[in-house]
Amino acid sequence: ANDAIVIAKAKPLEGPNSPEIVFVNPAFSQITGYAFDEIVGRTPRVLQGPETCRKTLDRIGAAVRQLQPVRAELLNYAKDGRAYWIEVNIVPLRNKSGRITHFASIQRDITAHKHMEQQLQELARVDALTGAPNRRHFLECLRDEVRRVQRYRRPLAFLSLDIDHFKKINDTYGHAAGDAALRHLAMVCAGVLRQNDVCGRLGGEEFGIFVPETNLSGAELVARRLRARIEDSPLRFGRHTLALTVSIGVAALMQQGKNGTEQLMQDADEAMYRAKNAGRNCVEVAPPRLAESEAQTLSPSVTTVV
Ligand code: GH3
Ligand code: MG
Ligand code: MG
Repeated sequence: ANDAIVIAKAKPLEGPNSPEIVFVNPAFSQITGYAFDEIVGRTPRVLQGPETCRKTLDRIGAAVRQLQPVRAELLNYAKDGRAYWIEVNIVPLRNKSGRITHFASIQRDITAHKHMEQQLQELARVDALTGAPNRRHFLECLRDEVRRVQRYRRPLAFLSLDIDHFKKINDTYGHAAGDAALRHLAMVCAGVLRQNDVCGRLGGEEFGIFVPETNLSGAELVARRLRARIEDSPLRFGRHTLALTVSIGVAALMQQGKNGTEQLMQDADEAMYRAKNAGRNCVEVAPPRLAESEAQTLSPSVTTVV
């Protein structure tokens, strides 16, 4: 069999050397590096390590205590410390009188499959050109963040950033230069932003950035710093030096209000278009929206206007 097979005693289950292994097949030795004589008498727990999922182990433990079969995916560790993924099927074995005396564990190495799965998940989240979160993943993160800050009444700001006259770069130096500029921009932004800020590529040469724990005036500072750093970081492309500038719109989530993700992004976009109209290479800030609770404290005539 290509699958590893381990047979262990059904009792006792607890204790440092339990459940006790009584048999392993050659495939087991091949995968784990433990010879038959080395592993018999010991417990499958020797295969567990720092990244083995505790929850999965608990689920397996609970099934086994109830003498039930169980299936799981688990990260195990070979004798040399190498981590590998298995799909494990554990089934109780009965003796002639029908009593469960042992468990057989059939383990298939699914490491390659797991790595491919992780790569696919990564590809689905990341823009291949810049390595920044792609639009779908970015919006997912932003929506989660909006929910979180609304629950805890924390500030959150959003920046809409668009490269100025990007078509000119493509038209003058070619598409490869445009691509290099996009990668360059993502890198410059990452150098300015903090660990918790998230910069995603929303489309062509448009980026969105959300800045947790930051109000409108704080975000305006971030935007101005970004704009200046980008202007001061021209891109070397072959023997050319390409100047890059961006227009940035800034908006903030009002704390007790109902402007959600869509409104936040729309406010920042509108501000960004104003920055374009104001001559580009500048920052515009969305007018702060009144929070509901603030609106209620105003006089009735003003409230109806709001
Ligand atoms: P503005 O200052 O008004 O923003 O001018 P602009 O030329 O930047 O604006 P526009 O949105 O009209 O042009 C964006 C261009 O970006 C159009 C498209 O050819 C280019 N583009 C979009 N995605 C990519 C990409 O992945 N690589 C490259 N090289 N170019 C791209
Ligand atoms: Mg543009
Ligand atoms: Mg654009």
